[in-house]
Amino acid sequence: MAPDIKTLRSLRLRVENDTTGQTSKQMIKQLTIIGVGLIGGSLARALRQAGVVDEIVGAGRDAAHLQRAQELGVVDRYSTDLAAAVQGADMVLLAVPVGAMAAVMQAIAPQLSSDAVLTDAGSTKASVIAAAREVFGTLPEGFVPGHPIAGTENSGVEASFAELYHGRRVILTPTGVSSEAAVARVRDMWQTVGAEVTTMTADHHDRVLAATSHLPHLLAFSLVDTLAKMDDKQEIFAYAAGGFRDFTRIASSDPQMWRDICAHNEPALLSMLDRFEADMKRLREAIANDDGDYLLDVFAHAKAARDNFCGNE
Ligand code: NAP
Repeated sequence: MAPDIKTLRSLRLRVENDTTGQTSKQMIKQLTIIGVGLIGGSLARALRQAGVVDEIVGAGRDAAHLQRAQELGVVDRYSTDLAAAVQGADMVLLAVPVGAMAAVMQAIAPQLSSDAVLTDAGSTKASVIAAAREVFGTLPEGFVPGHPIAGTENSGVEASFAELYHGRRVILTPTGVSSEAAVARVRDMWQTVGAEVTTMTADHHDRVLAATSHLPHLLAFSLVDTLAKMDDKQEIFAYAAGGFRDFTRIASSDPQMWRDICAHNEPALLSMLDRFEADMKRLREAIANDDGDYLLDVFAHAKAARDNFCGNE
């Protein structure tokens, strides 16, 4: 009898590892992804392509979305019953908006195996850990919070693609009780799909991401909203050129997701907003006072910093 696809995948991995002599990648027997959208769907596609997962189970609220994920080959089966979906899973990824994490954890807790590794992809980390503490009482040893620093402004499983994580960073924020074995399995999973994995504390993560991601999204949403409320908005948008499109691309991101992120990273985001407001106020004064030297200083400093950190991207 010809070997089935699962046996072939396992054999391929074993052969690769035997010939390279490297530490073997651990197979995932059942990966359950709650939230099969851009982030969860892309991880599913990439792990499947790498041949390291036996079965992928999708879960979410909307059966039609999950049916589409199955048609696209992203998941093998699905359920809108979250607890049923985690039954038998040795790896569970939560890839829902951060505002939904607590309710999802509550729903899966009764069926989550004590041996399972539980991780997430939420864009805020202290809030996800607080949700887990509230739901589980004590944090599970198998819980390893994470955040892939990769994405696009598009949402849903149709927007997912296997290469999303190639060369991108993933930040893990293990809790004080995350087991080494669980951290290793989550690190392994992300490295398998081409990501570079780093670890830091959840608070540090939230401060860094408030500056590099949350504030820029807030500014983009705010600018477009301001312009869209102007009487002559038709003309304004008609003349919007490359710079406007570059700056505001992220304002096409999912509003609910970004509402949740901003609401769940309050201290760090407020602190960044205060700094930004003070700097904007100073720029306003410079324009009102014809202080071109100040403007030149700020712009030159910003250009040098961006060229240094981002090159010509
Ligand atoms: P997405 O494409 O909108 O996918 C979210 C998925 O979650 C959908 O499939 C949705 O399916 C499901 N969902 C939403 N609310 C739910 C609930 N209450 N219970 C169960 N399922 C629910 O969003 P995404 O971009 O993949 O983002 C997922 C997570 O990754 C978020 O926490 C986000 O902060 C984080 N993240 C996003 C990016 C990015 O650039 N997009 C980058 C890094 C991290 P149904 O509607 O069918 O339920």
